Amino acid sequence: MPKKIVLLGSTGSIGCSTLKVARDLPEELEIIALAAQGSVEKLAEQARETGVKHVAIYRAELADSLRALLPDDVTIHCGPEGLIEVATLAEADTTLVAIVGTAGLQPALAAIRAGKDLAVASKEILVMAGEIVTREAQQAGVQLLPVDSEHNAIFQCLDGHRGGEKEVSRLILTASGGPFRNTPAAELPHVTLAQALKHPTWDMGRKITIDSASLFNKGLEMIEARWLFGIGMERIDVIVHPQSIIHSMVEFIDGSVLAQLSHTDMCFPIQYALTWPKRMRGGLRPLRFEELAKLEFIAPRENDFPALRLAREAGLTGGTLPAVYNAANEIAVDAFIAGRIPFPGIWDLVEKTMNSHAVQTACELEPILEADAWARTHASDLLPHV
Ligand code: NDP
Repeated sequence: MPKKIVLLGSTGSIGCSTLKVARDLPEELEIIALAAQGSVEKLAEQARETGVKHVAIYRAELADSLRALLPDDVTIHCGPEGLIEVATLAEADTTLVAIVGTAGLQPALAAIRAGKDLAVASKEILVMAGEIVTREAQQAGVQLLPVDSEHNAIFQCLDGHRGGEKEVSRLILTASGGPFRNTPAAELPHVTLAQALKHPTWDMGRKITIDSASLFNKGLEMIEARWLFGIGMERIDVIVHPQSIIHSMVEFIDGSVLAQLSHTDMCFPIQYALTWPKRMRGGLRPLRFEELAKLEFIAPRENDFPALRLAREAGLTGGTLPAVYNAANEIAVDAFIAGRIPFPGIWDLVEKTMNSHAVQTACELEPILEADAWARTHASDLLPHV
């Protein structure tokens, strides 16, 4: 019997890669539901191709247009509730959340509560609500399966490791360094959107590509790693590795380091997350070491790119501060895309918003959602008026 997968965010970069992985492993993986925000035609095309019987569209006003493009036996679910309905379908084994932004959080929690394994691509879920998500997953006895390449690499390095957290001395997240890795600090205020969107090694959605250029992506990943692997922030390091061949590493107390290597293709971590605990021969091409010219490792420029320092502060302080870090960054990225702030304005806005926040505990969802909303309003108010 193939594993039955619900795919939230199917029309995005991760969503499309997930469909490719499933196409290559038809005996093992069956996509049973799809969800997107508003890309009606793409969603309908994916639904016809996969033959799913359930489709969710966040923008309920588009349901009629979607209906017109789908066979009658497909059920359409709408709005935030619709995402929860498909995330918890009785027949689903695993729900993969690849929605950009915070809309994936409630469906992810609902899936856990319904006993589904949760494959997590959306960073917001663990950054905002890591304590709740990990606690509830443990209570429900479901597995959290990291999709992001760095966490998936660490998950692979730790797999079957019985000593657990006590035997790990450090997690080492690799970062490509983004397009501005060698840009002098004095030039950062003048970089353009087009330059920020030119990622040297990965092909991804817009938001995460800009986050990679600012190193906020790595900051978010540090906070995620803290929750996924139960390791203190002080034991999570970042190293710039421009070739993006090593996806992350674990250093153990005996001094040994395990690393996971593969091509820069998100299909690798997606496939492992979905076939776990098994490994399968899918459509992916192994590395040829003789073709790799070199693997480099460079310390990140933390003073010029304060995203890592701010992430450490958010992660160590905990409570609602990581949610504020995430939400303020989303506002800042939108403002940079709209040409309202220069590139370094992204971290200025996040730092100012974090400094103004009165941190609350984050054992429940309500204070987290309040902090998220507060940070968006506060950061927006700090933006220059145009
Ligand atoms: P994209 O921008 O390419 O796609 C986003 C997807 O989310 C689309 O399917 C979009 O639907 C959907 N979506 C957005 N808002 C909603 C909503 N309210 N309800 C339902 N669906 C919604 O993003 P990516 O695929 O790049 O990234 C997705 C997530 O995965 C992000 O959190 C990102 O940080 C994370 N991630 C991405 C990686 C990558 O390589 N791309 C790597 C690791 C993590 P629509 O098309 O209709 O707007």
